[in-house]
Amino acid sequence: MGVIDEVKQRTDIVEVVSQHTTLTKAGRTFKGLCPFHTEKHPSFFVYPEQQSWHCFGCNTGGDTFSFVMKKQNIDFGEALRLLAQRAGVTIPSRFEPQAEEKEKERLYQVNEAAAQYFHDLLLSSPAGKKARDYVASRGLSLETITNFQLGFSPNKWEALKQHLLEIGYAESVLLEAGLIVETEEGKKHDRFRNRLMFPIHDIRGHTIGFGARALDDSLPKYLNSPQTPTFDKSRSLYGINLAAQAIRQQELAVIVEGYTDVITAHQNGFDNVVASMGTAVTEKQVITLKRLTKNMVLSLDADAAGEEAMLRCVDYENILDAELKVIILPKDKDPDDVIKEDTKNWQHLLEEALPVEKTFDMAVAKLDLSTVRDKSLAVERLLPIVADFKDTIRRDHYLNKIARLTGVSYQRLESVLSGIKSGRRVREPRQEVAAPVVRPILAEPIEEYCLALLLQHPELKAQCPGLLPEYFADTQNREIFVAYMKVKDVKSIKKALDSALHEYIDSLMKKDLPDTQIEKRFVECSLRLQEKFLRSLEAKNAEALALAAESGGTAAEQAMLEELGTEISDQLKEVFAQKRQTGSGAKGVEK
Ligand SMILES: [Zn+2]
Repeated sequence: MGVIDEVKQRTDIVEVVSQHTTLTKAGRTFKGLCPFHTEKHPSFFVYPEQQSWHCFGCNTGGDTFSFVMKKQNIDFGEALRLLAQRAGVTIPSRFEPQAEEKEKERLYQVNEAAAQYFHDLLLSSPAGKKARDYVASRGLSLETITNFQLGFSPNKWEALKQHLLEIGYAESVLLEAGLIVETEEGKKHDRFRNRLMFPIHDIRGHTIGFGARALDDSLPKYLNSPQTPTFDKSRSLYGINLAAQAIRQQELAVIVEGYTDVITAHQNGFDNVVASMGTAVTEKQVITLKRLTKNMVLSLDADAAGEEAMLRCVDYENILDAELKVIILPKDKDPDDVIKEDTKNWQHLLEEALPVEKTFDMAVAKLDLSTVRDKSLAVERLLPIVADFKDTIRRDHYLNKIARLTGVSYQRLESVLSGIKSGRRVREPRQEVAAPVVRPILAEPIEEYCLALLLQHPELKAQCPGLLPEYFADTQNREIFVAYMKVKDVKSIKKALDSALHEYIDSLMKKDLPDTQIEKRFVECSLRLQEKFLRSLEAKNAEALALAAESGGTAAEQAMLEELGTEISDQLKEVFAQKRQTGSGAKGVEK
């Protein structure tokens, strides 16, 4: 999850606004005197469900970010940092000025040089024969070896080090990249020796680190690069650089565990496969993949299916907002084995993938629930997982499920659960700074779509006069739109915006869009945006009017709201007329 979304999740607009004006609850909303203009009767409203605010006196509104920006008179970046601090969210240093980027670039380069060195040795050195025999025995083709840039690290202490120093890399860079290690006596030597090398890439193809398999009895059998500024094992996915396109096209990602599982899959035409690299899939990996697709299938060992880490995957559905599926491998077999035996078997497993929810059933299936001991064992194992769920609806769903599976009543489970949670809270020292709420993020797909169109088709700027910044409910979208209208060249838009927004802009620039009827699509989507804005305003206005009538608001106040209501409905009529004109009223172009 991006840092902006994390801040949104952990921030409650009612709390933030309450620091500046006294709010009183009125129905589903909160009401107070506007902090931006002087008034005697409250016309300032806060909507917790939408995490937004609106003042009918100054006729402005927005989300938490825009409130803080306006109130403190600061820009988006400053507001983000302020709210992040308040919510206990750390802003990654990569959002701070560029030095870090340059450092990363150096690490990519030295890793790439190392990968090339290892690769050449595997292909042609006499010392690499053992490794060549090994890959041949695994049935890997030359094409596959080249595609994955497999390599061989010789059984020497300083082979790579010498090579990289010779071609001009500094020892400090080698150390930072984790390619060499420093002994207690201060000697520095190669980390990877006598191993088959698997370079690990990020989605853009940068070489970020290595996995390495021992070619003799050395332990560990698999060794990875350490954590570096470019390599975070829990975030990286092996094969993502080669799989990304297929994942997008097929709208499905398959996650396996091992390097060779990925390689064999790709060699046999299953291009949408990536590996979590020897561990259970992590939340960060799911977030990385989510940029490509929401549909994921996890491949699980028959034995691992009940393990806690696997059970935790049920919680990833919250991140995905989609169903996660699992395939259970035949006993003692890897995807590698299954695919080699018969690709049809693998295809069949994929088609029969089960909802991840079934891992609960599988965990319980091994127990004898007629005994009290196993019953409490099941509850002990499953309940802590549910305790971590951020989404209460899903928590309820799973509580019911555990109740069904174990025969323990829902009420009993719930009370055990609150015990688990209060027990945990004591250990969390961050409570006073962190807002305890974690709310679902309200995505604005139309806003994103509209911005992606604009950014990818700068010629559309000429069509924008009708589009107003306030039509974007989300401040980050609004900021981007305002900057877009200001800059001469879209390429320089990042310079005009806080670095925390850069990643998001990149994702908009890369968003898959249809490539026909761009202008028509844009007109339609800006009309939809306007309609969304007006409808939301209409609802807010109606609510304010109802409250004014109830609580005996002044006649002037009611008259103003009524007038505004008429204005909004006139504008809506205008939007509908335009929609009919463009022929988008009934169906519209497929998004
Ligand atoms: Zn106001």
